[in-house]
Amino acid sequence: LTGEDADADFEQLMLPSSLLTSLNRCGFVKPSPVQLRAIPIGRLGVDFIAQAKSGTGKTVVFCVISIESALNRNRASSASRAGPSALILAPTREIVLQISDVARKLCNEMDGGESPPVKVAHFIGGINVGKDVQALQKGVDVAIGTPGRIRGLLRDHILDPSHVKLVVLDEADKLLEGTFSQTVPWIVKMIPDPKQMAIFSATFPQAMTERLMGVLRDPQYISLEEKQPDKGDHVGAVLQGVVQRKVEVNDNLSWVQKAAIAREVVLSFPFRQCICFCNEKSAGKDVASVFGEAGLSASSTNGSESQATRNEVLGRFRDGELKILVATDLLSRGLDLPNCDLVINLDLPRNLESYLHRVGRAGRYGTSGTSVSIARGYDLMRFENAMQLEMEWCSVDLSKVDLSKYD
Ligand code: ADP
Ligand code: MG
Repeated sequence: LTGEDADADFEQLMLPSSLLTSLNRCGFVKPSPVQLRAIPIGRLGVDFIAQAKSGTGKTVVFCVISIESALNRNRASSASRAGPSALILAPTREIVLQISDVARKLCNEMDGGESPPVKVAHFIGGINVGKDVQALQKGVDVAIGTPGRIRGLLRDHILDPSHVKLVVLDEADKLLEGTFSQTVPWIVKMIPDPKQMAIFSATFPQAMTERLMGVLRDPQYISLEEKQPDKGDHVGAVLQGVVQRKVEVNDNLSWVQKAAIAREVVLSFPFRQCICFCNEKSAGKDVASVFGEAGLSASSTNGSESQATRNEVLGRFRDGELKILVATDLLSRGLDLPNCDLVINLDLPRNLESYLHRVGRAGRYGTSGTSVSIARGYDLMRFENAMQLEMEWCSVDLSKVDLSKYD
């Protein structure tokens, strides 16, 4: 985060003073480049797409514009709050919780009497709908949720869409593909026009950008992708700050065997915290126990577990109690784990987007990190060619690893 923006501060964005104070109290003193560019555009109320690599502070951008829009609304009407004025959608429950933490902190640190002047609530699956009803009855200005739960609340007329003026899609490419590709457009249609659409992600496949540009009203496109003329690639730009390495293994090894190799990698490597990605949920526990054998505190989590368990494991990782977290792509996106500086791919991800998001977990907010992908030589070569990226070799002495132990 250097260059001409290094001297900028939040003051020059001319935000309401209560919000400026709270940003500073929350430790946000100098805006990141995406904050500097996207906050002013967001405040104009126009539709926009913002692309900036992982860990560059996109959450603060949309929390600030959502909170400001709620402040304006609440100032204009003294009537009791009818329903949220901003709706933020994100693809996983964990990301929703993380966003609501940031939004809540910003609101709590605003001066405004006893209770915060803007109320934030999150809406996710796995939690009793009764709680959602209660929260909404108390008044919600900024609603943050996963698509499934928000759709349910709209369908059952629990959530009133009629006052929503701003819709934010975080990790938007994920929100517009696969299972979400029906749900999210349905939700967006339920929000009456005119509304502002704010679209965020680290990755936007070209086709999606074009489709979005067609759907939004006269959108601004903000990209923080620094083109690197000598590389010319999208990957180099998105993953700046992460050294990408690879380890070639011989045959089709089992996860446990690859975990034994990964263990050798982490033991030979100074790192703070590591996420180890597998493509299958079923591998997690066994892989974590291989790390455990070497005295490394490791645990696994995946989408089949209860929300309470997911939160508990993630909390232990955030608190630093766990050194290694074994996960699936459920955790590849959006999670801010500031101490994670090592990402291991025990399986190569299925596509480039997933690779960028996984590896983006290391190297958050200007820090540097390392990724290590473990695969057969042929698979590595095919992956690097298909993705147009080049990894460096990771020097690790595999002869030390006794794979026969894990047959
Ligand atoms: P993104 O969504 O772009 O991947 P996040 O919004 O999760 O990134 O932010 C990444 C990290 O950077 C978080 O830990 C956040 O607290 C920190 N951060 C964001 N903006 C600032 C800022 N202006 N100053 C200092 N730290 C920041
Ligand atoms: Mg994010």
